Amino acid sequence: MKQLKHYINGEFSIAGNDNIIPVINPATGEQVAQINEAGAAEVDAAVTAAKNALKGEWGSMAVQDRVDILYRIADGINARFDDFLEAECLDTGKPYSLARHIDIPRGAANFKIFADTIKNINEETFHMPTPDGTGALNYTVTRPKGVIAVIGPWNLPLLLMTWKVGPALACGNTVVVKSSEETPLTTTLLGEVMTAAGLPAGVFNTVLGTGPVTGEALVSHPDVDAITFTGSTPTGQHIMQAAAIGVRDISLELGGKNPGIVFADCDMEKAIEGTLRSAFANCGQVCLGTERIYVERPIFDEFVQRMKAGAEALTLGEPTDECTNLGPLISEQHRNKVISFYAQAAEAGANIVTGGGIPEMPEALQGGYWVEPTIWTGLPDDAVVVTDEIFGPCCHISPFDDEDEVIARANNSPYGLASAVWTENVTRAHRVAAQIESGICWVNSWFLRDLRTPFGGMKQSGIGREGGHYSLEFYTELKNICVKL
Ligand code: NAD
Repeated sequence: MKQLKHYINGEFSIAGNDNIIPVINPATGEQVAQINEAGAAEVDAAVTAAKNALKGEWGSMAVQDRVDILYRIADGINARFDDFLEAECLDTGKPYSLARHIDIPRGAANFKIFADTIKNINEETFHMPTPDGTGALNYTVTRPKGVIAVIGPWNLPLLLMTWKVGPALACGNTVVVKSSEETPLTTTLLGEVMTAAGLPAGVFNTVLGTGPVTGEALVSHPDVDAITFTGSTPTGQHIMQAAAIGVRDISLELGGKNPGIVFADCDMEKAIEGTLRSAFANCGQVCLGTERIYVERPIFDEFVQRMKAGAEALTLGEPTDECTNLGPLISEQHRNKVISFYAQAAEAGANIVTGGGIPEMPEALQGGYWVEPTIWTGLPDDAVVVTDEIFGPCCHISPFDDEDEVIARANNSPYGLASAVWTENVTRAHRVAAQIESGICWVNSWFLRDLRTPFGGMKQSGIGREGGHYSLEFYTELKNICVKL
């Protein structure tokens, strides 16, 4: 069995506690690798390496030299594109066609975008008068925050990890990464790329293991200076408490229950195409996905029928098959959770427009964690499947009658991550988008990103913004120097 290794101080290691974690291909249910879980000793070694690396050549390296290394990391991912693609799809079961266009290119781009951003950051100066007339000069200097703990989820493992590691390194920090125990394969490959790119030992470290053991040891380590986390809201709340000890900075990208609002004056073709993607892409395991859809009553029946046709046209199958556009869920545990939501919808009296169960799969895939893409109608807004994040290929569609009503219903959620508005009325588009409580609101689109823009959630969907110079604010400490002239 392939043994995955931690990457600590530039060396690969299999040291760990006694817990052996199987890594499963969710498309088949077969084990593909195993991890010796990193315990407190391995986490301590990784954090100590990261702390020491801040004092070495990395700490005094010119910005341009850091930028050159970040470019070499991006080139290193692209040079091993097929290895990353295979690893990501084996770990997650997602279709190759999806990871080839999104996960792997973005994994590489995340290093280049922040290399370019760091080159263009200006420091500020302020001249001030003083009573004796000589004046004073204030100027800001930036320095890295220090050792950053990076903790990520399993749905977009490489993309979301590099989204944090890229800016952290660009700002001169060192990192200790704990990827999800479900999806450690691309994290391991990234260690190899770091070595080849000439990153000094100790700047990038990885520890593999579960949240309660490896993750807990990492976030509670006193030499971690800041924590950046993407995952569920309950875990984020827990980690926030660990960050309070030592008053450490924290960035949280958490869960969502995102609304899609479809007005009768939308371009129906575009609204259906975009809403289908937002509900079913990556088998619904996208934090930005749309699980609550509100459709203006005159087009409600047509919209539901066309969504049904679109969902039923999705092809579940081998990730390598170019015709496949829906993979499995990540694990048996997650499928049990999603199926329990399917059961709750049925018990609550939902009209099951399509799906609702486990599909028949060919023999080779029968051990995988497949579920049917599912659409419900007919439930009240306070039904569990309409209020809770499911993170599966499913959505509830309900009708609405006027703009104020739908804005209030869309905002009636503890989450505020993303939203989508479909209308051809430009005035309405701006008016509604401004009132929706979400970190991003798409108009007539979904999942469109300029990586320089702020990304993050309102309410219980997170704290802080990432992207472009917004990421640099989190990964940098600012100091003002005041010089009396
Ligand atoms: P999760 O919270 O279960 O786990 C995320 C990570 O936290 C994993 O690496 C896990 O091992 C670790 N972890 C768990 N307990 C920990 C602890 N006590 N201490 C330290 N680390 C711990 O989330 P998940 O199931 O992996 O991911 C799905 C969730 O992530 C969904 O809620 C989704 O909305 C959210 N998500 C949010 C974004 C965003 O940008 N806002 C992006 C992707 C996913």
